[in-house]
Amino acid sequence: MLTVSGCTLEACVADITTLAVDAIVNAANSSLLGGGGVDGAIHRAAGPELLRECETLGGCRTGDAKLTAGYRLPAKHVIHAVGPVWHGGASGEPELLASCYRRALGLAHEARCTSIAFPAISCGVYRFPADEAVRIAVDTVIDTLSRLGGFDRVVFACFDEPMFARYRAELARRPSVHVPPSKPA
Ligand code: ADP
Repeated sequence: MLTVSGCTLEACVADITTLAVDAIVNAANSSLLGGGGVDGAIHRAAGPELLRECETLGGCRTGDAKLTAGYRLPAKHVIHAVGPVWHGGASGEPELLASCYRRALGLAHEARCTSIAFPAISCGVYRFPADEAVRIAVDTVIDTLSRLGGFDRVVFACFDEPMFARYRAELARRPSVHVPPSKPA
């Protein structure tokens, strides 16, 4: 566990749909109309009202994110982020993945969320190399949190032990990133 600007960053093995946080992030596709993996799990757990709201959003560009209600989920909101498909790394994939984390945190901040859980965006059927994706996720979250402030808890929800081990190692590598909580001006 790591603390950045008063916010704890933690990894756990969990089905993200079970987490009682203000917002969970979905690894969506650009149609926002549902898919497999974590997207399918979120839509199943949230119920059909989620798809109805998603149908009104007009899709979402890669690297961007859109916010909906959480419906039957314990989370209040779902933030649908569209990660890049891995095409070898020279098509802007790292920057697009970082953008997903920035945009998701930005939308959560606007919605006054203080806790948020992320899946390993793009690490499933989109085939982004997991070690690099985890480094980008942790780097970008730390950087964005220190600029935005206002969060108490960021959870990296891992579906399996190997992914959990990656996040745990990546968080443990950064003892020097401890930053004192930001104080109101
Ligand atoms: P993408 O299309 O962005 O690659 P996937 O849903 O295929 O998205 O996979 C993203 C990550 O989410 C993978 O590491 C996968 O194991 C994980 N995952 C799948 N289902 C869940 C779930 N219910 N909770 C948390 N993580 C999940």
